[in-house]
Amino acid sequence: MVRGTFQLMKSVNKSTVLNKIRQSGPISRAEIAKVTGITPPTVSSIVKELMDEKLVVESILGESQGGRKPTMLLLNRNDHYVIGVDAGSDSIKACVSDLVGTILVRSELPLQAHTTIDSFLAVLIQAIQLVIKEMGVEGSKIFGIGIAMHGVVDVAAGISLYSANSGLRNVHIKEVLENTFDLQVIVENNSRAMALGEYWFGDYGLLKSFAVVNIGRGVGSGIIEEGKLRYGAQEIAGEIGHMTISLDGEKCSCGNQGCFETFVTGDAIVRRAKKQIPDAPDDLTGEKVYAFALKGHTAYQKVLEEIGVLIGIGIVNLIHAVNPEKIVLGGGVMKSHDFLMPSILATIQQRALTEKARKNTLITLSRVGDDATVLGAAALLLTKLF
Ligand SMILES: [Zn+2]
Repeated sequence: MVRGTFQLMKSVNKSTVLNKIRQSGPISRAEIAKVTGITPPTVSSIVKELMDEKLVVESILGESQGGRKPTMLLLNRNDHYVIGVDAGSDSIKACVSDLVGTILVRSELPLQAHTTIDSFLAVLIQAIQLVIKEMGVEGSKIFGIGIAMHGVVDVAAGISLYSANSGLRNVHIKEVLENTFDLQVIVENNSRAMALGEYWFGDYGLLKSFAVVNIGRGVGSGIIEEGKLRYGAQEIAGEIGHMTISLDGEKCSCGNQGCFETFVTGDAIVRRAKKQIPDAPDDLTGEKVYAFALKGHTAYQKVLEEIGVLIGIGIVNLIHAVNPEKIVLGGGVMKSHDFLMPSILATIQQRALTEKARKNTLITLSRVGDDATVLGAAALLLTKLF
């Protein structure tokens, strides 16, 4: 058993009380009893346990309901921590977060192009060592390490099976990191981790079904239903980047043709712009397309509007397959949202099957932003705790 595995005796009631304090703290014992239906003596004994475990602390006095002022409860932000890592295709970002998603320290190290498994793991370990050292807390205060890895991941074994961008296969991330750090390690696909980060820290309220679409170098999505990530039978649920949009479209990194992501990634935007704009510079990037559009160049604006239609088509497919209450859009490409969003929304209005789906599917931009993935990686551990 690795040291960081926190053995919380999780009864349903304890989980309910802890989550109520997480979501609604500061909150009084009486209010917890009232909203959860758990008896006041049971709430008090659970709270005592949680305080003994240093997960919960007492705080400022609440509003009196006539008698003595109640003591309020909230999560203890200063005793337990989690490490989150966003292992991208060109850099590795690591952070230490408290239990409510405040990033306390962070590191970022570049990955070499054409990296090998050994050099990838060496950079990963170094990025984690840097944040542990800077944080300067004992290992026993760290619940574990969550890794958000791009590509296809075997979550149970903690192995990165395949990542198209770096070309690495079968990287035993969990085994290597648990042996190095003596902490619990959870490995997850980056888009699913991002969905978890948005769901936990985006303050969207309680939603029955929630999807996050990550559009950047590739396209992925994470689907959360009833508070839990959805994997599918072979753990590829949400791989919407590889939905076929065009039978004879461009070749995709996965080997198929005409996948959704061949139309909408940063590289796809550059290819479209170069095709349509004769004087486009050779060193054009997705960021430059956006900058030209912002300066008022209508040809570049038109490219982004067309990309918005294509993203809209992918989102409509997601609505038809999963029908989530809310879809959050994030990733590097969505930084051009002022040009993309109108045509995304118009496409959904034109194509979604029913009026209810058109009207009631909530589409928004990421609230957590660039930290959604690294915080979602940290939240992988929190889902075990709460
Ligand atoms: Zn593909």
